[in-house]
This record gives sequence, C-alpha cells and structure tokens, in this order.
Amino acid sequence: MQTRETLLEIKDLKVHFPIEKGLLFKKDVGSVRAVDGISFSVYKGESLGLVGESGCGKSTTIMALARLERITSGQVWFEGKDLATLNAEQLIQARKDFQIIFQDPYSSLDPRMRVIDIVAEPMRIFTKKAILTLTEKEIEEKALGLLDKCGLPASYAKRYPHEFSGGQRQRIGIARALSLGPKLILADEPVSALDVSIQSQILNLLKDLQKEFDLTFIFIAHDLSVVEYFCNRVAVMYLGNIVEMAPSHELYVNPMHPYTKALLSAVPIPDPVAARTRKRLILKGDVPSPSIVRPGCPFYERCHKAMPICEKQKPALLGAEAGHQVACFLYENIQGGEHA
Ligand code: SF4
Repeated sequence: MQTRETLLEIKDLKVHFPIEKGLLFKKDVGSVRAVDGISFSVYKGESLGLVGESGCGKSTTIMALARLERITSGQVWFEGKDLATLNAEQLIQARKDFQIIFQDPYSSLDPRMRVIDIVAEPMRIFTKKAILTLTEKEIEEKALGLLDKCGLPASYAKRYPHEFSGGQRQRIGIARALSLGPKLILADEPVSALDVSIQSQILNLLKDLQKEFDLTFIFIAHDLSVVEYFCNRVAVMYLGNIVEMAPSHELYVNPMHPYTKALLSAVPIPDPVAARTRKRLILKGDVPSPSIVRPGCPFYERCHKAMPICEKQKPALLGAEAGHQVACFLYENIQGGEHA
C-alpha cells in the first residue's frame, strides 16, 4: 500500500471566543466554543473537504490554521513547525507556504490596484523583506504567467477588478494565492458566490493547478455535491467538532453518523424517481448555542437515535473501516479503536 506523506497535522485544536459582560469592568462570563478540540491530518497532494451547517466551525478552523484567528490551544504541525507557537516574524516566513482563497473575490481584491499589481504584491512584499530574491522584471513575468495559467490573458493585466465578472475575479484571487508558490491552499467557499456554470470552470481550474503545482487543499463548501466532486476526503463538522471523516466516495455511499445522514438526505439528486422515493431526514430544532458546555455528544439534542449515554459522555472519533472514522456510540462494536 502506498504510504501518504503528512503535510499538516492538527492536534486538539480549540478556538474559543470569550463572552464578556460589563461596561467599564469587563468580565468573562463564558465562551463561544467555535472549534472545540479537533484533530486530523492532511496528506500531501490531497483535497480535504470540511462540511457542515453555518456556524459549525469550518471557517474558524481554516482562519485559525492561517493564524488569522487566535488559537486558544492545540498544535498545528506544518513541515516540522508548530504554527500555533510561531512569533510574528516566523509566521510571515511560514505564510509563504500556505495561502487562502476567499469566498467573495471582489471584497478580497483591492479595487484601486491593477490586476498585475494584485498578483505581484505578495512577491514584492516578500522580496522587500528579503525572503524572496526576485527582480521587478521577474516579478512581473511571474505575475503575467500566473494570470495566463488562471485563464486571464496579458491584455487584462492593466485593468482593475471592477472590470471583471465574478468568475474572472476569482481567477485573479487564485493567481494571487499562487504567487508565493504555496504548498497548502485554504479555500473558504471559493465557488459559493458564483453561478453554477462558472463554478465547474473554477473547480476544473483548481484541479488543473493542483496537478501542475503539486498543491494540497483544505476546501470548505456548503454544497455537498461540490465537495464530492473536488475532494478526496471529507470531514463533517458539527458544533466545533469533527463527527465523521472518510474518503469522499465512502462517505457519500456509506454515511454513518446520524448528522451526516441527515445532511446527505437533503442533497438534490438528478433522478426524479430516486428523488421521490428517497427518505429525507429532518433534523429536530436549530443548531444549539456553541457557548453551552455539554459533557456528552455535541449532536445529542437533535439526534433521533440518542441513547442515555450520549447525554453524559462524548464519543471519540474512532476508526471503523475503509479509512472511515466516526464519533458515535452506535458504532462502538465495529470500531477498532484507532484514534483520529
Ligand atoms: Fe446520536 Fe448518540 Fe451517536 Fe451522538 S453518540 S450521534 S447522540 S447516537
């Protein structure tokens, strides 16, 4: 069996936001547990999807990995360095290797800058800091080359972001994200704001670039069919926890966790006969507040299979089979005890 090289290893990552009360003298009265102790590895060259309802902690997770959100505790190992402990200067160096593609390409691009300067800017900053040694001519050539690889001809280079469509702006954002030669791309809903026809073009572009530049992705999308198309593995998040993780084909054919089953039962299917006969699982109530401290399973309040133990004890994310891990007491008898 081929061994996979780990690029990123996250251990017990927590991001909690304090809830403060008081006008003059602020006092912490609790915390919002946006990410509540997740552990997983990302392998070189793969695309790992993070899915779950709004507020489940997926965007906070990638913001914390990029250190754009303060990490409360835990470790983020990337090429022998724990990103959680780097100081500001070390972090700038490390940022060369991981970049973010944002959901809204327009608000992430400076409207006063020409497209070539948007793509060239990170290289200019890193050259100024002596992290890269590039001449201005090399920077411009590289920026033009990246725009071309992202499907934007050189004749567009001197235009401004408002002159482009949403799909073209996302291509500019992708070219900028690639300008420092990153190894890991953190993609936060990169196609959600685009029309369906444009979405597939951007996804295919990302797949081509992944092959050409040997990229690894952590990819967030609320559309589960987008994740199925783009990702090799999927982690399902609920209330700041990973409740299930599996290779994409395995997760979509054989979901285990009651939450994943409910999510997948809501995905539209093109076959009208199959769609009519499929049983939709409706979740009870809304996602509860992430500020409530619960000793048991995070999904307990909404789970139609909940048992007395689920209220008192939190199930660990354990291995079942075919690289499948699930955090649910229903599967204790088939789990081999392989911790995530
Ligand atoms: Fe439902 Fe219990 Fe499984 Fe949690 S551990 S998903 S509450 S059955």
